[in-house]
Amino acid sequence: MSQLDLDLRGDLGSPPGRPPRPEGPVAAPDDDPTAPSPLPESALTPTIRGQERLEQALRARLGPKVMVQLTQNRTTMVSFRRRRGVLYARLHALFAHATEPVLDAIAEFLSHPEPTEAATRRLDAFLDRHRDLVDQNRVERLVPQPEGRHHDLQRLFDTLNAEYFGGRITARITWTKAARGKRLTMRLGSYSEEENLIRIHPALDRAFVPEYFVASVVFHEMLHELHGAEELGDGRRQVHSPAFLEDERRFADYIRAKRWEQKHIRRLLRY
Ligand SMILES: [Zn+2]
Repeated sequence: MSQLDLDLRGDLGSPPGRPPRPEGPVAAPDDDPTAPSPLPESALTPTIRGQERLEQALRARLGPKVMVQLTQNRTTMVSFRRRRGVLYARLHALFAHATEPVLDAIAEFLSHPEPTEAATRRLDAFLDRHRDLVDQNRVERLVPQPEGRHHDLQRLFDTLNAEYFGGRITARITWTKAARGKRLTMRLGSYSEEENLIRIHPALDRAFVPEYFVASVVFHEMLHELHGAEELGDGRRQVHSPAFLEDERRFADYIRAKRWEQKHIRRLLRY
């Protein structure tokens, strides 16, 4: 998969060397990294107008074959891939409020294999500038509940992360609440890229469900963070690519878990 992921969150915590300030009159208030962000909280929410503004700005710099999608993903604030000559960029909604020099830096990031330090710094500075806004929003987010009656999702996640992913998966994980009753289908797990959150159905938090089965569901959702939603040329989404399915088979209990599911699916559905 050709994707460049920029983990800018790490940079938010430890401000790197600031770029030299241009000589001149008093710095505009917008230049002071310690001042609170001048943007309203709504700047964190993707809008069509924001998306169009960014798309126009990037097309003016990089040519017409640029598609922009705005996200609320704080972990990966900039990512992109090329497919059939089209550049698909996923950018945090905040970038819709970027100034012209920051737009230049984004364009450089999306088009150069090795962006200059100046461009990197400009992006960092922009995110630093609005750090309070992003952090404040983080606190208000849902508090994950990974500890169940029978299975501790965090422990399973941590073990899998170390064993299969070299600790690279950053998602949080939680049990969800669900209404009881008999059903025909059940989504055992899901991964939200916007929230960087894995949700696991409480039907799995029962004594008869073996740990390796819960682990197989967690593993599957972790792969979703790793692979992202892979786009087909026409904008449709193919969530489980052949590469994804191949990776899924790396799980040591893959076959065993599939067999268990076939055998116990009815009991699982009675929740
Ligand atoms: Zn899936």
